[in-house]
Amino acid sequence: MGLHVPERLGGHGQGLLALAVVTEELGRSCSSTAMCFGMHSVATKVLATKATPFHEEHFLRPIAEGKHITSLALSEPGTGAFFFLPRTQFRVEAEDVVLDGQKSFVTSGGHADSYVMSAVPPGSELDPGTFTCFVVEGNRTGLQWLQDWEGFGMRGNSSRGVRLDQVRIPKANLLGSEGDQIWYVFEVVAPYFIIGMSAVYLGIAQAALDLTIAHLKERSHQHTGESLSNVPVIAHQVAEMWMQVQRSRQLVHHAARLGDAGDPETALALFAAKADIAEMATSVTQEAMILAGGRGYGKNSAVTRLMRDAQASHVMAPTTQLLKTWLGRSLLGLPPL
Ligand SMILES: Cc1cc2nc3c(=O)[nH]c(=O)nc-3n(C[C@H](O)[C@H](O)[C@H](O)COP(=O)(O)OP(=O)(O)OC[C@H]3O[C@@H](n4cnc5c(N)ncnc54)[C@H](O)[C@@H]3O)c2cc1C
Repeated sequence: MGLHVPERLGGHGQGLLALAVVTEELGRSCSSTAMCFGMHSVATKVLATKATPFHEEHFLRPIAEGKHITSLALSEPGTGAFFFLPRTQFRVEAEDVVLDGQKSFVTSGGHADSYVMSAVPPGSELDPGTFTCFVVEGNRTGLQWLQDWEGFGMRGNSSRGVRLDQVRIPKANLLGSEGDQIWYVFEVVAPYFIIGMSAVYLGIAQAALDLTIAHLKERSHQHTGESLSNVPVIAHQVAEMWMQVQRSRQLVHHAARLGDAGDPETALALFAAKADIAEMATSVTQEAMILAGGRGYGKNSAVTRLMRDAQASHVMAPTTQLLKTWLGRSLLGLPPL
């Protein structure tokens, strides 16, 4: 669990490429597990980036020991896909910070030991420059978890909203310095979120391809006695699926390597990687459904689950529409936002 915890605290001190590789592997077996791990890892990275000795001992060491699961609670009902524009407010009272607001779609909501949450000071405009991060322990008074959200896919994990009603935390739970944290969004949250979530959907697509190949080798018709894998047009479809997955994987790994190296072209590669993954994962899982025939179309088949899970890739922030807008504007020499 300590992929992004520094080695001196018992973690692995790894970056974006490791996140891509590990999360994909988890996603290949279980999308929801990969999602929980991805959110835990992004939140861990936010914690680790400007950790104080207090954060190291109370959060990072237990994470590295596998005793603490964290998660990311940024999205809000009011600003939706614009996850970097929280309306949750914080005010400082002596040695405490008091939080009021609401978060939506929190992965591992109600189950994690802590949540990295964003908030703004009272009276702030809709300006990502005022985005401020806090770590909130799961047992704080005033956290009111809403009903579990019933998703079309990603049903193996909790995902729910939470109301913050005068949640009081110590000032020590502030991550970085108050108000100066636009860099958190662009340098930490966005790269780790984009790579982590891309890897979840890459794993889903690879699982769909694995299932398709296994099915085609095993399924044969009585009238020919041959397996479907011997049908030339089907071999072409499998080749197409493999090429799609492989191309997308290269984009994700390319973006991760650029990010790990601090390359100025990283943002473009990240925007492209997640937008591409969403299109690839929805297309490959649909193709898998077609090739699996009636068995695949069964209500609770493994392919059905992968296809449902893959649909979340477009709506999870940053959404495909926003990524393409940011990429296009950047290429046209305009500011992305
Ligand atoms: C399975 C799942 C798990 C999630 N887990 C987490 C989590 O752990 N933590 C967390 O913080 N968040 C999480 N989210 C929230 C997610 O990241 C998004 O913030 C959320 O899905 C946005 O949903 P919305 O309905 O509010 O979108 P809306 O803002 O209502 O947008 C709806 C659609 O309109 C499009 N749209 C909106 N504005 C524009 C525009 N200006 N230009 C072009 N297109 C636009 C969007 O791209 C989107 O497709 C999760 C979401 C899902 C589905």
